Amino acid sequence: MNYKLLTPGPLTTSDTVKAVMNVDHCTWDQEYKDITQEIRAELLCLAEVSETDYTSILMQGSGTFGVESVMSSMLLPTDHLLICTNGAYGRRLKEMAEYANLRYTLYEVAEDKIPDPKAVRAVIAAEPTISAIAMVHSETTSGILNDLEAIAQIAKEKNLLLIVDAMSSFGGIPLNVAELGIDFLVSSSNKCIQGVPGFSFVIARKKELEKRKGHAHSLSLDLYAQYEEMNHDGKWRFTSPTHTVLAFQQALKELQAEGGIEARYARYASNNQLLRDEMAKLGYEAVIKEHQGPFITSFYYPENGNFTFQPFYDYLKEHGFVIYPGKISELNCFRIGNIGEIYRTDIEQLLVVMKAYTEENNDN
Ligand SMILES: *Cc1c(COP(=O)(O)O)cnc(C)c1O
Repeated sequence: MNYKLLTPGPLTTSDTVKAVMNVDHCTWDQEYKDITQEIRAELLCLAEVSETDYTSILMQGSGTFGVESVMSSMLLPTDHLLICTNGAYGRRLKEMAEYANLRYTLYEVAEDKIPDPKAVRAVIAAEPTISAIAMVHSETTSGILNDLEAIAQIAKEKNLLLIVDAMSSFGGIPLNVAELGIDFLVSSSNKCIQGVPGFSFVIARKKELEKRKGHAHSLSLDLYAQYEEMNHDGKWRFTSPTHTVLAFQQALKELQAEGGIEARYARYASNNQLLRDEMAKLGYEAVIKEHQGPFITSFYYPENGNFTFQPFYDYLKEHGFVIYPGKISELNCFRIGNIGEIYRTDIEQLLVVMKAYTEENNDN
């Protein structure tokens, strides 16, 4: 059955994005390598960085592979990393640090709060060996949007390397990577750019990339090695997800056609607002009260006591929508994403279905 994905990725893509995958492409072919180069250049434009200072590197695998390529190959034995976390993806950064035997300090806050810039300053003051910060921008666990600007400002002032997991935000909200002074930003093909799953990408400051070569803990995730090969003529080191690459190129064209990141952000933000306003009227309380992002929203289970997720999920799916279970530890909630090829009419239709389910359920 055909349904719309109200999930944080993979998400609903356009028919035209899906259609371009009906071609089998050779990876050695110049035309294909040129597509890779075009994508890399376009990503730099979206990140608002210059080709002189920054490069973009595509990496096979899902988003986690891209984050781990940075975490496991761009930190020096002398580095001391501060990891800021308020959710599962922040905790994943910590797991990666452990696998790579990095020296790190963890600053963790509750999942419905953002890492506090003042507290970050205090941690850095107390531990002067800290040389780098890693954080998540949009924490998909809850839907909260962290204060990247404030943390980036601290990194700049203290001259710290800044690594940002912008997986579920890049392409869906304006971000001037150069101005923010981000050294490594990671996102993937199947989030706000609205492509299909298969690769991640890293926007990297060239100076740092060059300085950090030769420290990889993994062959396949060696970011510098991938850069070196790809930068030559657009050739990936190992088999690349060819169909995904074609779909991504098309998705980038469609982002342009929509009016760029500003226009996409406006669509996401207004659909998210509509969703939250109307869900509140139906009695569904949003978990995040402050700093809610425009991409995905966590809602508490309704209080009528007999709510269980599975029948609710099945009902919505039967009526054309797939949502996500909650991910916040020890909280009964579910999540609704609004990124992807999702328009106001889809949210309106979802709300009709949601209302019907809620009324039926309350009559029981
Ligand atoms: C989606 C996502 C990831 C990557 O998850 P994968 O399952 O590897 O694609 C990482 N961080 C955040 C914040 C995400 O939303």
